[in-house]
Amino acid sequence: MQGAVLYGPRDVRFEEREIPKIMKPTDAVIRISSACVCGSDLWTYRGIQHVEQPTPMGHEYCGIIEEVGKAVKNVKPGQFVIGSFFASDNTCPTCQIGYQSSCQHRELVGGAQAPFLRVPLADGTLVATSDVPSEELIPSLLSLSDVMGTGWFAADAANVKTGSTVVVVGDGAVGLLGVLSAKQMGAERIIAMSRHVSRQKLAREFGATDIVTERAEDGVSRIKELTKGIGADSVLECVGTQESMMQAVNSTRPGGFIGYVGVPHGVSLDGEQLFFSHVHLHGGPAPVRRYLPEMTKLVLDRKINPGKVFDLSLPLDKVAEGYRAMDERRAIKTLLRP
Ligand SMILES: [Zn+2]
Repeated sequence: MQGAVLYGPRDVRFEEREIPKIMKPTDAVIRISSACVCGSDLWTYRGIQHVEQPTPMGHEYCGIIEEVGKAVKNVKPGQFVIGSFFASDNTCPTCQIGYQSSCQHRELVGGAQAPFLRVPLADGTLVATSDVPSEELIPSLLSLSDVMGTGWFAADAANVKTGSTVVVVGDGAVGLLGVLSAKQMGAERIIAMSRHVSRQKLAREFGATDIVTERAEDGVSRIKELTKGIGADSVLECVGTQESMMQAVNSTRPGGFIGYVGVPHGVSLDGEQLFFSHVHLHGGPAPVRRYLPEMTKLVLDRKINPGKVFDLSLPLDKVAEGYRAMDERRAIKTLLRP
């Protein structure tokens, strides 16, 4: 088979790779229905995070089970499944408490930008639908694997509930789906911070009530103006830079909550400033597995359509263009079809 391999900064190649096999009795191998490029893939693509060796890319996936190991009981060949970027047993004490992305036996799932993928801990990781879903639902189901699950966690970690006032920092795919999640959780007011017209439009479609185009100090002032001078109940930080994190801290009201899901790069917080800000801070790699059953149902019932974040769809062999388009911000998110 052929799949995407990253060699170094801006060097993604589509090349021959070995078809994954069952290596442990708890594994499954799935035939990928669709994969995509993640915003977090851009950190390595841009060379901000280095790759030591040629690395198979992709960690968002859904597809049909091809084969399972001898110990797998919950899923079987022919089923359509979605899983998270972290494989988890879903049985250890950490999983049981809902933090599957910190599972005591977690393993990274990688190499999904390919026709086939090995998924470890298949019983705990994969969630199957009762039927093979129709083609038009695939982008939305795929999004649950990471980007939508991460937006959902951001909103949940930020304690969004009925009537909340919410700020979303970041207008990438995760931020936009954070808007959708906040809407779904009953937020009354959702302020999206975005300077890009096409992304503002999608944010509004997903439920944003206000758009703030200013950043840094000016952005904070605008948020304060819109929130009786105190800041928002809930702030979703979906970028991972020092500026975006400070934007989040300074836009949250005393006693408010920040859900931060942008992978931090060079972020440091001042203890004294944090102390006097009176905010709750909760984030990390999203425990997508916790939310998969609920989100899958919402998609299958056509209550949410997170697949709208894919504004570029390419055959898998054009994967390099998929990265370029996202790097140059010509695309919000690229869908890849094997
Ligand atoms: Zn576990």
